[in-house]
Amino acid sequence: MALVDCPECGTKVSSAAFACPRCAFPMQQSTLKPTPTGQVVTTERTGKDLKAAGCFWGLLLVASVFVLISTASQQTVVTFLAWIATTVSLIALIRVKVLTWWRHG
Ligand SMILES: [Zn+2]
Repeated sequence: MALVDCPECGTKVSSAAFACPRCAFPMQQSTLKPTPTGQVVTTERTGKDLKAAGCFWGLLLVASVFVLISTASQQTVVTFLAWIATTVSLIALIRVKVLTWWRHG
């Protein structure tokens, strides 16, 4: 344990002391500062993931609805696939919206 000079009055104070015994200047100020946690970073990362997922499924939904409309009169395999893509992307979009609400609402 080292002795350090109090920045306020110059008294030799133990580095383990919370405050200077003479003038009560707080010595442990730097260690008492709340350290930034990884929580904020994690939240931002998941938020970006959700936004990316939302963009992806949104584009797929628009594309599959477009294919569905343009092939609806023909009733081909493409129409069937477009139906599946529309349903899947719609469910995925709802899931993204629910997750966004769950984490940030
Ligand atoms: Zn002091």
